[in-house]
Amino acid sequence: MSMTHVFPTYDRFDFEPISGNGVIVTDDHGRDYLDFTSGIGVCNFGYQNVKIQNAVNVQLTKMWHISNLYQNHLQESVAELLVGDEDKLVFFANSGTEANEAALKLARKATGKSKVLSFNHSFHGRTYGSMSMTGNDHIKEGFAPFVPDISFVDYNDAASLDAITDDLAAVILEVIQGEGGVIVGDQDWLHAVQDKCKATHTLFIIDEVQTGIGRTGYKFAYQGVGLDPDIVTSAKALANGLPVGAMIGKANLGPAFGPGSHGSTFAGNPLTMSSAQAVLTQLTPAFLEGVRDKSAAVWDELDHFDDLKTVKSVSGRGLMIGIHLVDDVAVNDVVKALHQKGLLTLSAMGNTLRLLPPLIMSKSDLLSGLHTIYQTLDEK
Ligand SMILES: *Cc1c(COP(=O)(O)O)cnc(C)c1O
Repeated sequence: MSMTHVFPTYDRFDFEPISGNGVIVTDDHGRDYLDFTSGIGVCNFGYQNVKIQNAVNVQLTKMWHISNLYQNHLQESVAELLVGDEDKLVFFANSGTEANEAALKLARKATGKSKVLSFNHSFHGRTYGSMSMTGNDHIKEGFAPFVPDISFVDYNDAASLDAITDDLAAVILEVIQGEGGVIVGDQDWLHAVQDKCKATHTLFIIDEVQTGIGRTGYKFAYQGVGLDPDIVTSAKALANGLPVGAMIGKANLGPAFGPGSHGSTFAGNPLTMSSAQAVLTQLTPAFLEGVRDKSAAVWDELDHFDDLKTVKSVSGRGLMIGIHLVDDVAVNDVVKALHQKGLLTLSAMGNTLRLLPPLIMSKSDLLSGLHTIYQTLDEK
């Protein structure tokens, strides 16, 4: 390896993906991989999606950037596609952590309260506000002091409801904790959290940065379990790889985010918005139904994984999958073994093999990838 001039913040594998087409990624040695990562839940429409490429190409020839001092019809269009027929407003950002920063700022300003409740094993990003709301000591190590008035309780724990009191500005959670190990929120518990938020005039924030944009077979995972959050954050797959974040809030929160209250130079620029628009116009009810249909076949197959002695359990929903490995099989060794077999996969906390395939992957590619993973786990 030649001398690096890049900070060593990432522990990198020793090959470089250089192109992608559909659900196949090709590396610098000409090796092909079936992609079960989508970046990290970003390229939900795979690589070289024609509609997204065309939209971005057309916008490139017109203008990449213009400030937020002017009208922007692409922002209006993307916002409309995001909120549907609900009475909601969108603030655009450039990433997941920025969307969560916006949510934290809006929640404090709109309620006049400062305290926020978050959950152990959550992940909300790396900037100070979002990191301070993240329930993972490893990510926060060495960075204290954090943003004050943020506390943590256990996810999926009935006792945690007692911590939702009327001095809170907001509760923030993921419907499925992604980085935390693909931990699925219990539907009744999620509704109990929401009910307690309503009863205490606490804003309910759902972080859909990883679970959103079709990942679980719904535009947002909360819709699949019938929740009604005050604020939703999105990013990762929203523009299929161009940097876009969004904070979606109920319209009654609008006055708290008036002119000058928050902003971003790059956010909502026409180039990234053209990509987000092409993503959301393809995320139709029929497409989402197709994702749920493929997911059903995938979960039938995943049922067999419980038989493997290397597997403790399998969790997730839709095409967001966590395979929890026994302690003496290191997930990183499995990820590397799968590279050798032409498959890209991810890990998550708790020795979890995490799968986030592009939503456009065919049923047969999904099942053949799972077959390779099954065989690899059987050999370990
Ligand atoms: C990835 C992620 C984030 C952070 O997004 P960035 O774009 O990396 O800042 C926040 N929340 C969740 C749930 C995520 O998965």
